[in-house]
Amino acid sequence: MSGNGGKTLRTVIPKELRDALKGAVDLILPFRCSICGSVSDTEGRFGNYDRLYRSLYGSKNELHICGKCLSGLTINDEDKRWFLCLSEPVENDPCPGLALYMPFTYKGIVDIAVPRIKFGKNIELARLFGAVLGTCVSDEGIRADLIVPVPLSDSRLKERGFNQAKEIAEPVARINNIPLADDCLIRIRDTKRQSEISEESKRANNVKGAFSVSDKWDISGLRVVIVDDVATTGATLHEAAKALYKAGAAKVLCIAFAGNRAVKNAEPY
Ligand SMILES: [Zn+2]
Repeated sequence: MSGNGGKTLRTVIPKELRDALKGAVDLILPFRCSICGSVSDTEGRFGNYDRLYRSLYGSKNELHICGKCLSGLTINDEDKRWFLCLSEPVENDPCPGLALYMPFTYKGIVDIAVPRIKFGKNIELARLFGAVLGTCVSDEGIRADLIVPVPLSDSRLKERGFNQAKEIAEPVARINNIPLADDCLIRIRDTKRQSEISEESKRANNVKGAFSVSDKWDISGLRVVIVDDVATTGATLHEAAKALYKAGAAKVLCIAFAGNRAVKNAEPY
């Protein structure tokens, strides 16, 4: 919107009246979309994923996604799901050619929904995205021996109350009958938020040596999948993969729900 012509009703209707109207609408149409916040009268909740979600988490949840948001959640074309994990490959990479499976683009509905998960603390939305990702992984025929989420630092976990990567990874694991090991990968030092760093090389330095594999796990010879919510430069996933290879993993694949990569540059796992 631009110029004076773009003025919305929001600037004209007094706040009290707006709240009263909103309250009245809520009484008649009680469902509020967990992504866009609009009020919807459909009871189908989240279409084909509804049955799957209920089978994983039961029917008692507050999640409701409107038809518009649901239809906006579309999987990328086949040639835009597989990428090299590092958007800018580096020299002497201990795991060159590390593949990243990332079936959604970080725009539109995903762009609105991911902050709802992270900052709005919407754990159910993370689980729904995990269920969606789980069906993509199944359709893609990806096989593995173990799924590990990218861990949060203790301080961030305390602040948010849950690790969104773990909540996304869990339904992926259950749908694909792959064991989930959420205490396998551990953070051995705190890092800044990657989203606060714009330069690619600085992002790589920020996470360097941040991960290790717990003594509790022997992953030697295993095919391991690492799961995160989003991948930008791929530096975090790459660093986690390095730790897994160092601990003896036979093969590592990175999976993220969404990101903004344009070019397919890795072959399927
Ligand atoms: Zn919506």
